Amino acid sequence: MTFIFATAFLVIWARDKSRAENLALSLGWLLLTSGFSISILSPSQWGRAIPAITYAPYALSAIAMSWGVLTRVGAKPPVAAQLWIAFTGFATLMLVQNIGGSIVADLYVTNLACAAIFILTAQLFAQSAGRDLVERYLLVMLILNTAQLFIRPVISVLFDGPILEEAYRESTYYFAFNWIFAFGSVLFGLALIAGSVKDQVAALHHRTSRDALSGLLMRGEFEAQVEHALTRSNGEGITASLVIGDLDHFKQVNDIWGHQVGDGAIASFGKMVSKMIRPSDIAGRIGGEEFCVLVWNADETIAARLAHRLKSSTKTLEISNSALDVRLTASFGVAEQMRGENYRSLFARADKALYAAKQAGRDCVERASEEMSQNDVMRAAHASDKLLLNQDLTPSSERYAG
Ligand code: GH3
Ligand code: MG
Ligand code: MG
Repeated sequence: MTFIFATAFLVIWARDKSRAENLALSLGWLLLTSGFSISILSPSQWGRAIPAITYAPYALSAIAMSWGVLTRVGAKPPVAAQLWIAFTGFATLMLVQNIGGSIVADLYVTNLACAAIFILTAQLFAQSAGRDLVERYLLVMLILNTAQLFIRPVISVLFDGPILEEAYRESTYYFAFNWIFAFGSVLFGLALIAGSVKDQVAALHHRTSRDALSGLLMRGEFEAQVEHALTRSNGEGITASLVIGDLDHFKQVNDIWGHQVGDGAIASFGKMVSKMIRPSDIAGRIGGEEFCVLVWNADETIAARLAHRLKSSTKTLEISNSALDVRLTASFGVAEQMRGENYRSLFARADKALYAAKQAGRDCVERASEEMSQNDVMRAAHASDKLLLNQDLTPSSERYAG
């Protein structure tokens, strides 16, 4: 069984070698397999040499598993501390064997060393892992795994009293060891597999929801995430704002420098946006050369500041895979979510501000609130001579095409 898990994690790792944690888990299961094989296959008359030989594979297996489990959730594995625990445990085991004692003492030392390694793991895991079902299951398994290492030797002493070396394989400890080990391995292994499957599904979702060129979310995923975020901001009374950016005269960039340079510009702009936003913001490529950012916990002024920073950086942007000195500019529209406002309406206002930025000569940022007040002023001033009838009412996408 443990060998099957070792193989499974090796296969998972081979599919995506960037996830070293799966290789560590495979190694952990392999070491456990070797320790367990020695425990059951070695002749009984080896006596206390068996715990001495199996100590290293068990302790190293615990360290490798810990490395895998913690790396997976982005925690730093305390390898140095764990190696120190393992070494101290081994030195204690040697001491215990030299001063006499019984095989039970050997088992205590081995189990306590492995338990200490797992306690550190469970503690760091609890701090770093998410709170969903898979991570909770994994945490419970880590705790149970630690607990059984303490409980097993206690059971054996309660039921057997001192175990004679030759009678070790007939002891309750040995019986309990096998069964707890078997069930524990399956439950723990399945928890790890569940974690790995969850990671793979998340990675697949990440790949399929992102635009390959810019690395930002594709329109559908962007809108889904923003709609969800805006419902939350409405419910929790958090301010959120939307920034729409559009590269200026991009048709000309393609016409003059070629489509490849145009693609490079979109890629560079996408990377720049990713770098300049916070982790709580949501960014997407919503059209050919049109980008959108939901700026979380930010009013229009703060979002406009981000838009200004993006605007400035666009001017000095180096284009991917191009030695040509192409200078880009971009225009931005910014709008803050009004109370109860949905995505469609917020987007329409930010888009209108973007249109105003294009009208104002491009390479600038316009805010929906200012847009609104200017319009209000215009409305008030020209209401009598019906200036509003001159307003361009065609959809924005058509308006600034060409
Ligand atoms: P404006 O300043 O008004 O935004 O002018 P513009 O030329 O940028 O606007 P327009 O919408 O007329 O043109 C957008 C251009 O973007 C047209 C299209 O060929 C180009 N484009 C859209 N998607 C891509 C892409 O993935 N790669 C490249 N290279 N060009 C693209
Ligand atoms: Mg454009
Ligand atoms: Mg456009």
